[in-house]
Amino acid sequence: MASLPARLPDNVPGEFFVDSTCIDCDTCRRVAPAVFEQGDGHSFVGAQPGSPEDRRRALMALVACPTSSIGTTPKADASPGVRGFPVLIHENVSFCGFTAESSFGAWSYLIERADVSAGNVLVDSPRAAGPLLSALEARGGLATMFLTHRDDVADHAAFRKRFGCERVIHEDDVTASTREVERRIAGREPVALAGDLLAIPTPGHTRGHAVLLYRDRYLFTGDHLAWSRRRGHLVAFRDANWYSWPETIRSMERLLDHSFEWVLPGHGERYRAESPEAMRRELERCVGWRKERA
Ligand code: SF4
Repeated sequence: MASLPARLPDNVPGEFFVDSTCIDCDTCRRVAPAVFEQGDGHSFVGAQPGSPEDRRRALMALVACPTSSIGTTPKADASPGVRGFPVLIHENVSFCGFTAESSFGAWSYLIERADVSAGNVLVDSPRAAGPLLSALEARGGLATMFLTHRDDVADHAAFRKRFGCERVIHEDDVTASTREVERRIAGREPVALAGDLLAIPTPGHTRGHAVLLYRDRYLFTGDHLAWSRRRGHLVAFRDANWYSWPETIRSMERLLDHSFEWVLPGHGERYRAESPEAMRRELERCVGWRKERA
């Protein structure tokens, strides 16, 4: 729970506040941009909610926060925020909320497939919070859990235990925590997990990083690729590159072989291009930008 004595001084007065345990993961600013702002290495409440919808979004940020750094005074009923997740992004793709501190607040996504026999897909692991598990159960449970890389596996075992889902990760990112996953992919070539799901190895951030392409439309990019609000284009994170920067650039170039409209990352902003061709141009721009600075 957030601590009132640790309330950051730059919060505006009022019900909501952020305390000093904030790790600056950006989740609250993206979930409730009307309320939370970026400070120096942390978020703070820049404006108290001005409408019921702003307040609901602030409560969603409170439950999504990986470090329980958001509080209210007096203590509020957070159930409207809890009920907000998973929150729809587009068609049958949702953001799960309930981010995990061990993943530094990385975002996890739910794909609800129309073909019930194919089953739902969870991309990376949120916190295994009871309300989220119940919400996933109500939506048909999980058949597949795709783990983009070793950093964002969080509570994967709890999801396997509850839903019996097949966990998938690249063999080069298997650690002691994931050695019992049901499926390991290998090598550098894309692997079809199903007719609508393609795992694409993208080494760079980590040796075994991989992204997931769904229906040639949605690319779940983990820590490989994201949109930057500040720069106004797609970026990779050089200051969080644990394996190989040249490999990161090569992995980005290999994505030019694929068609997609959406980039849905673990960290950073998601991005939707007007068309696959427009996304390709953005990706080429990103590759060129990174090569200039290599
Ligand atoms: S969600 Fe929590 S940890 Fe992340 S920036 Fe907001 S207050 Fe900080």
